[in-house]
Amino acid sequence: MGDAKTGLLGISREAIETLVAHLGQPRYRADQVLGWVHGRGVLDPAAMTDLPRALREALAAEYGAEPDTRLAAAETSADGTTKVVVALPDGGSTETVLIPEALEELDDDPLEPEPSALSCTLCLSSQVGCAFHCAFCRSGSRGFGRHLEAREILAQLHWARVALGGRGNIVRLVLMGIGEPLHNLDGVLPALRLLTDPRAAAFSGRRVTVSTIGLPEGIRRLGETFGGKVALAWSLHAADEATRRRLLPVAARRPVAETVEALRDYPLPPRRRITVECVLAGGVNDTDGHAREVVRLLEGLRCKLNLIPFNPWAGTDGAEAPAATADGEPLRPPAPGRVEAFQRVLAAAGLSAFVRRPRGADILAACGQLLGSADLSRGGRWDS
Ligand code: SF4
Repeated sequence: MGDAKTGLLGISREAIETLVAHLGQPRYRADQVLGWVHGRGVLDPAAMTDLPRALREALAAEYGAEPDTRLAAAETSADGTTKVVVALPDGGSTETVLIPEALEELDDDPLEPEPSALSCTLCLSSQVGCAFHCAFCRSGSRGFGRHLEAREILAQLHWARVALGGRGNIVRLVLMGIGEPLHNLDGVLPALRLLTDPRAAAFSGRRVTVSTIGLPEGIRRLGETFGGKVALAWSLHAADEATRRRLLPVAARRPVAETVEALRDYPLPPRRRITVECVLAGGVNDTDGHAREVVRLLEGLRCKLNLIPFNPWAGTDGAEAPAATADGEPLRPPAPGRVEAFQRVLAAAGLSAFVRRPRGADILAACGQLLGSADLSRGGRWDS
């Protein structure tokens, strides 16, 4: 229970259970509070009508009636994707993206019931800026600001629901927005606990995907914490070290084999697969040879692939250098037919691969295009 009134999105299950016990009230009151906050999106204790007055007053005194974030803007693209901008307490902002009817691209599990036409995936951000500087990614192009707190991650779901109004439901979450989630375990793990808590936001772990650049220690921590129930996506992009170093600075510090080993140890439930993402840039990592390297690397790993044609973003606000490899080759989308040819090489080796078309590119809401705003003057890089 913090001194500053940051709103109820910041309350952990442990904190509310302690408060309820302190007030001498039954434990199910904690479930009621979490249900109001994360299930119904009600953050003002005074509106929680089935709670005793003493508990409502204690919650208001400790946490206040409002969150310390707010909905700053929502912009919808021609294809229906909505970018939601959330203002943060320090004056910066983060972005989260509502993607309607994108589920067929994210999940090919025949056991999953078909979602309704108004179902949405929400892409959440985990940091302000990013320390990893992947070549094709706008989010990492200006350096690292800070980690998001758990409540700032949860606030994105809250405000996205507000922006969506009654027009649909959020049925899947992907931590694939700004930042590397496994670089911010202190914020991400508590947020995931509440997102997957059946009495809080109540998302099934299979409907929550953490997307990582491949940090082995983070993959292991995630697996231990949630027993493999949270779905995992790995941004691979290229399998051979030479190409990886052109695209991903992290490759200079972490051999790809270390990531594969951590992924093999991830406690995947039966019939589930790890999603492997490859953003393909013309001539850089999209040849048949690159596809054959991917096949070799992934041999024996329970996985499926998403192939994402590179989404250009440079020059859109007049202040950005074009995206380029470490040795200066500008990135461009693959030539027509190239992604399909790449896909055929994978399919011939028995790997399932799906092509994800950019969503929301006209409002810079597609993969790798999010930015947010903040003081990024620290401009840090990940170097551990
Ligand atoms: S792809 Fe992810 S890890 Fe890489 S710079 Fe972008 S946000 Fe960071």
